[in-house]
Amino acid sequence: MNVFNGVTDIADYYRAETFARIKAFADQRETPFVVIDLPTIASAYDELVSNFSYADIYYAVKANPAEAILKLLRDRGANFDIASRYELDKVMALGVEPSRISYGNTIKKAVDIRYFYERGVRLFATDSEDDLNTIAREAPGSQVYVRVLTDGSQTADWPLSRKFGCETEMAVELLTLARELELKPYGVSFHVGSQQREIGSWDAALAKVKVIFERLFEEQGITLKMINMGGGFPANYISRTNDLATYAEEITRFLQEDFGDEFPRIILEPGRSLIANAGVLVSEVVLISRKSRTALHRWVFTDVGKFSGLIETLDESIKYPVYTEKNGELEGAVLAGPTCDSADIMYENFKYPLPLDLSSGDRLYWLSTGAYTTSYSAVEFNGFPPLAEYCIDE
Ligand SMILES: *Cc1c(COP(=O)(O)O)cnc(C)c1O
Repeated sequence: MNVFNGVTDIADYYRAETFARIKAFADQRETPFVVIDLPTIASAYDELVSNFSYADIYYAVKANPAEAILKLLRDRGANFDIASRYELDKVMALGVEPSRISYGNTIKKAVDIRYFYERGVRLFATDSEDDLNTIAREAPGSQVYVRVLTDGSQTADWPLSRKFGCETEMAVELLTLARELELKPYGVSFHVGSQQREIGSWDAALAKVKVIFERLFEEQGITLKMINMGGGFPANYISRTNDLATYAEEITRFLQEDFGDEFPRIILEPGRSLIANAGVLVSEVVLISRKSRTALHRWVFTDVGKFSGLIETLDESIKYPVYTEKNGELEGAVLAGPTCDSADIMYENFKYPLPLDLSSGDRLYWLSTGAYTTSYSAVEFNGFPPLAEYCIDE
């Protein structure tokens, strides 16, 4: 664990002109809200494409479904990984063809599958026999890929393990059954866990994929054509990670080791890494208190909390960098939200170092908050409206 001393230098997270642009916009508005800097997303997308030139990008819409973001990615040629009818409607209303869409959720009703099929989607994820049978019935002839379990939960800050995916043996059985059901057994997917700090997780997952490719070919004569490597690429939070180029270099090497120079079709499904760094959540200190005259730390209550976008602070999993313009001596503080629920505490074990001259009315900037904030915000808890969001251009 590295030591965090509070964000004193905004330049560690944003280019000077980017933060100036965000701040100029933010200064004119009442908090709380997220500002999304669209040019930052555009360059993150371009960087991903140039590092993984052989891959097709399917944006995981759940990370942030703002229309301006979807349009930007649509215009840059991205495809879309979609989890529900509602996301599908939203993306298709923007003119995205169904050939650019995958239904990546393994948990879906028959009516949902039918809905996607009727709108032209032909690419479906699955990880169970029940779901596969439903796909065969409601989306006949479609391409299916099977999601396998991965073990990256120890090193991912927001693991997506256990709930999704199946064991290798089951994946082989499902892809074999897919052919019997007159579906197209197309490939294998995995997700190593979101904000995955250990690049070796992709190596372990690809080794499983390789076994499945080989067994299907040798035992069933089925040639799989696609590997969906999911998301998991990092955003800039407090814990340091390698940069994207290092991820790309290593993962490309793993692919070469397992598949030689002729890769199957490779799909990536980034969410967090494309969007998080483009967002700043601008909040205000509501109240600062101590629980006794001699208490060694303050409670700092802000006008945002777990129910207004910061749900990934659950178990203090994601530690956002927090910036203030006050620069007095630092002392650890508990950070909590404004609602009448004692679960609405963001950080209590990990005390954020905040200046002693911080006072109510001061702004706190939560950095790297573009992903998994607005889409998670509650509708009306204690009457507070959902987290507002503004997307800005240069
Ligand atoms: C959430 C999700 C992603 C995005 O993951 P990130 O770590 O945010 O990049 C990709 N694929 C699937 C299937 C997901 O559920």
